[in-house]
Amino acid sequence: MKFSDVPSHDNIKTRLRDMVSDGRIPHAILLHGPAGIGKMALARAFAQYLHCEHPTPGGDACGVCPSCRQHESFNHVDTLYVFPVVKTDKIKAPISDDYLAEFKQFATSDMFMDFEKWTATFDKKNAQPVIYVSESEALERRLSVTTTASRYKIVLVWMPEKMNEQTANKLLKLIEEPFSDTIFILVSNDASAILPTIYSRCRPMEILRLSDAAVAGFLTENRGVDPQDAMALAHIANGSISAALREMDATRVSRMFFDLFVGLMRKAYQRNVKELKEWSSDVTALGREQEIKFYDYCQRLIRENFIYNFGIPSLNYLNTAEQQFSKNFARFITERNAETLIRVMNEAATDIAGNANGKVVNFDLAIKIIMLLKP
Ligand SMILES: [Zn+2]
Repeated sequence: MKFSDVPSHDNIKTRLRDMVSDGRIPHAILLHGPAGIGKMALARAFAQYLHCEHPTPGGDACGVCPSCRQHESFNHVDTLYVFPVVKTDKIKAPISDDYLAEFKQFATSDMFMDFEKWTATFDKKNAQPVIYVSESEALERRLSVTTTASRYKIVLVWMPEKMNEQTANKLLKLIEEPFSDTIFILVSNDASAILPTIYSRCRPMEILRLSDAAVAGFLTENRGVDPQDAMALAHIANGSISAALREMDATRVSRMFFDLFVGLMRKAYQRNVKELKEWSSDVTALGREQEIKFYDYCQRLIRENFIYNFGIPSLNYLNTAEQQFSKNFARFITERNAETLIRVMNEAATDIAGNANGKVVNFDLAIKIIMLLKP
């Protein structure tokens, strides 16, 4: 990660560069600010710059020296990563290194480090990643090994607010009595949740939210989003690229669910069994978790279409596309079939949650819809 890979934050980049040129690098820096704006990317770029063998005259890492390449692949021997992880049956005293491969993949695919996405990488329901005390102990051992390759040993701590007090106290000792030439860079979404003793030992640098134009610019350049849509997303996202990406994802998924719902109703009405078979394969391909969400969505739309018939728009929660569809479709959802439709959809979701064969369940449901839509 180079400074030039990180959008915006020019003032912070300048301040970090100045620390190096003035030869006054604090041994603990805290980059804090809202989630999803690229703070960890800045921290990584700074670490890479510090270790780069041939920094550019403009004050950035070269990106090609062996040290830069090791940084890009999270393999730099004098750079340690600390981040929240979970306990499992196999890993009772987890440390970040146990999950380094997952972390590398996560940080590479999303430089804005959406914590929700990180939580979702753990194969564990309701996982709450934490920086455990085992981490501080392992860190102490690793820091006591003398630096061989570079001038500085750098510890990048992502989400220090996820430490419990015991961990924080041990880490505090390491920050208070640092091993020589060790630099801690803490990256936090919520500085107020960091233990005051830790906070007071760090040089805080507040990173501000991105401008709407910067968020929109990123979406257009990197995700090919139409400029007008990008501006609308940026407006909702409050200066956070992660929030904008989440919103984009949610829009995409709800559009897909809508299309599948419309497909089911049209094909069932036309009694097109062959296409319903294909439809059931498409739904199966979503995977169990999404299939269940899809059937929740279907139940909601049936309810909404039933309500639509009462002609009181304030009772309806439909987006523009859904509303357009309901104009012609709602009349098919009546007292006669609404309840049964919802019930069979709910049963399909339950069967899928219970590991039933998706293709069978989805096709079976499609056939029931044919009968239930019969005039
Ligand atoms: Zn380099």
